Amino acid sequence: MIEVYNRKVHSQHLALNLPSVVVQKTYVRLDTPAPLSRAGIWIRDEGRCAYCRKRMPQRDVTFDHVLPKCDGYGGGWLNTALACFPCNQRKGARRAEQAGMTLHVRLWHPTVAELNRIARRFPPRGVPATWRAYVPFWPEVPGIPELSDERVLAVTNPAFPSGMTDQDYWNVTLER
Ligand SMILES: [Zn+2]
Repeated sequence: MIEVYNRKVHSQHLALNLPSVVVQKTYVRLDTPAPLSRAGIWIRDEGRCAYCRKRMPQRDVTFDHVLPKCDGYGGGWLNTALACFPCNQRKGARRAEQAGMTLHVRLWHPTVAELNRIARRFPPRGVPATWRAYVPFWPEVPGIPELSDERVLAVTNPAFPSGMTDQDYWNVTLER
């Protein structure tokens, strides 16, 4: 146990502060390639559209197949970029240059550690202060209300699959 909350818990003979951060004794490798997830792509691309560089709230994000799916290209870290809805619409099922657009990001496959490092630039809100030095957190844009576990994100983004919760949508490991 390395951090505690102020709140105490009591047993008959003992009072102790509620644990807030504990150490896991088995080692989690951080130099392995990060599994593909929407949250991961969001972090890698730092919440900006790959084409117009606009910073977007999570709810407005879409994911672009850089080389078009209809030409047989798969998804994955090396062919997926964040795009705002207007840019994604404009590009359609074409390559960027065919649509007169420029891809401004490098597509790369981060390790878990690299992704965590980038994620630290997006400070979390709504998590206990004692966690902040330790956790990689959900992507968040300042000024955007925090995402809850259950709220479905579909509201404003036509690309969002219906019926998925935020956590499903952002954190599911995607197939390549
Ligand atoms: Zn854009």
